[in-house]
Amino acid sequence: MKCPNCSGDIKYTPGKAKAVCPYCDSQIQISMTAEEREFERDTSRLAHNRDKYFKDLKIWRVIFYISLPLAVLSGVLLSLSDSAFLGLPAIFFIFAASPVLRLAAPDIPKDLEGELSKKERPLKKGALYGIFIGLVLLGGVVTGLIKDDSKPEEGTASSSAVSQADS
Ligand SMILES: [Zn+2]
Repeated sequence: MKCPNCSGDIKYTPGKAKAVCPYCDSQIQISMTAEEREFERDTSRLAHNRDKYFKDLKIWRVIFYISLPLAVLSGVLLSLSDSAFLGLPAIFFIFAASPVLRLAAPDIPKDLEGELSKKERPLKKGALYGIFIGLVLLGGVVTGLIKDDSKPEEGTASSSAVSQADS
């Protein structure tokens, strides 16, 4: 808001009918319509920020959910192969996916900061690391177990021998 007398910048407190110019000390009567207009502009800006944030958060969630099975898959690849090349996706997921996702996370508008629940925020880097390391390990361990099961019959033979000896 500009002072009509000296056109200096006046800090406008919403809800007040009067403002004093800090430069020339003139008192300015604020008409209700101007105040209302200002208020309306603020409200629509907030609503716009809010909508944009939740839209961005939705997109971020989609990227996050897509990355989850990829993390498991990279664990599977790591477990299936001894070659370092197939281990790269797993290493990528553990060391890169979390910071990349964190960078891609939408910024929380300042006005929303206080009122967002945990579910309405993108996950923190620590949580992302935990999830991705867990999923890569899960994919690796499960694949390792399946691989062991499909090994030559010696394993099954000896285990049935053991159970026979037990009974
Ligand atoms: Zn002034």
